Amino acid sequence: MPASPAGLAFFLDVDGTLIDIAPTPDGVVVPPDLPETLAALAMAVEGAVAIVSGRAIISLDGLLGPSTLVKAGLHGGELRRSDGAMEAMSAPPALELLRPLLTALVDRWPGTMLEDKGAAIAVHYRGNPAAEPDVLQTVEGMLPLAEGTVAAQRGKMVIELKPATAGKGNVVRRLMAEPPFAGRRPVAIGDDITDEAMFAVANAMGGLSIRVGSDGRPTEARQVLPDTASLRAWVAALGHVAAPLAPGAESAMVDHPPPASSRRKGMP
Ligand SMILES: [Mg+2]
Repeated sequence: MPASPAGLAFFLDVDGTLIDIAPTPDGVVVPPDLPETLAALAMAVEGAVAIVSGRAIISLDGLLGPSTLVKAGLHGGELRRSDGAMEAMSAPPALELLRPLLTALVDRWPGTMLEDKGAAIAVHYRGNPAAEPDVLQTVEGMLPLAEGTVAAQRGKMVIELKPATAGKGNVVRRLMAEPPFAGRRPVAIGDDITDEAMFAVANAMGGLSIRVGSDGRPTEARQVLPDTASLRAWVAALGHVAAPLAPGAESAMVDHPPPASSRRKGMP
């Protein structure tokens, strides 16, 4: 693992990667210093840090604060750059066609739930793992109705219907073609099946791929960190070792940069 962030660009998943997974998406606990840790990393690499999640950006803002970090939501269905410019894929019309079928599915299995994300719909079955075979089969079985406009994305105890053109690998590819990412080595960090596309793209670009946790599932990631706490510690250390930027550069990175004296507070 590199000890300095110089020359690197970071693509970070959130759930299961930066924070522990909870029984429901709303139940997660965000360590209070995490937004500051990410802001310090972003300052260290001139803003080349992207949060890449299956959550909607509005949900990411709720967890990590409305910072000017680049955020890709809905597996790349939404992208917001550091200047606030937002791009969103519209929901495939076929998603409306599938919604009643999804509602019938979760009605059939107590403990399962739908999460409506706008351009994507997730079926969570963490509350009833026995539903998995039927959930997967039913969701995969409805895809032909969308005629290629909707894709299924599996995750941990969740399967999601999203625009077929969305994908975390595409996020990395796109951002690496533009400042401040271009010219750096991509570092893709995630924990789940949906992150494998990021790992593959980062590997192909000569970058690093880091998986958080291991359940024995085969992975494209070339490095492994045991848990979310070890990732946060590494990210904090990278932000800490970086040389401070010139005055003025910070304000481009975060909405309300804390004074330099307090910025280091709480850092390991
Ligand atoms: Mg994850």
